[in-house]
Amino acid sequence: MIRFENVSKRYPDGTTAVDDLSFEVKAGELVTLVGPSGCGKTTTMKMVNRLIEPTSGRIYLDGEDVAGIEPVKLRRRIGYVIQQVGLFPHKTILENTATVPALLGWKKAAARERAAELLVLVGLDPVTFGSRYPHQLSGGQQQRVGVARALAADPPVLLMDEPFGAVDPVVRQRLQTEFLNLQERVRKTVLFVTHDIEEAVRLGDRMAVYGTGRIEQFDTPATVLGAP
Ligand code: ADP
Ligand code: ADP
Repeated sequence: MIRFENVSKRYPDGTTAVDDLSFEVKAGELVTLVGPSGCGKTTTMKMVNRLIEPTSGRIYLDGEDVAGIEPVKLRRRIGYVIQQVGLFPHKTILENTATVPALLGWKKAAARERAAELLVLVGLDPVTFGSRYPHQLSGGQQQRVGVARALAADPPVLLMDEPFGAVDPVVRQRLQTEFLNLQERVRKTVLFVTHDIEEAVRLGDRMAVYGTGRIEQFDTPATVLGAP
């Protein structure tokens, strides 16, 4: 589903963020990218949806070189969730969630209906939360809206960059559990960046364990933990 072939990224200032990465993520698989800050996880992820272009190597999405896919088209195929989801402050939660279906050309009523479904999917009752504004939601609830929005176009792929990184540990665990349940139902191909090894172990079907600029291990959590 996602394939990296000898991908390197060198920033203009000379920093080599990732060096010669090759790996494959299967359809419906959740792979966690784990390692300390600055080891190249975010750079890896942003090359998939072309927020960053590799210096060399190729990345394939379902066999298609992403370099040949326009970024706007990629956005329909790849949902993206970051640590600060960036909801529109003057739009309600329902409106925030309906923006993606609306951009995809859905009529207003249909977009709102879709938004309500998505909120249910991430565990937010649209009757209670739909008419609230982002500042009236807890951090955890805002992240749920971010996940709902990322799922709006029903993309086969989700990129998640420390999506639960800014909430307290108790809420984080709850979000992890909910996300695992959601993933059982929607089965997306997921790349999930985290610096939290426990989170990587708990969520990942497989884990890509980073050293500086490279993946040192790519295996199931059981194997990674069992390794000497
Ligand atoms: P991580 O997500 O693991 O924290 P990043 O992919 O953000 O790592 O960064 C990898 C390396 O690339 C780091 O050394 C970082 O400082 C560097 N880097 C990231 N973005 C840029 C940039 N725009 N310009 C120069 N160096 C960058
Ligand atoms: P979560 O686990 O969903 O992140 P929290 O423990 O952070 O929830 O918040 C607990 C409850 O407090 C939530 O149900 C939320 O509705 C409410 N809450 C948090 N912040 C606000 C706010 N700014 N305005 C109104 N209600 C809030």
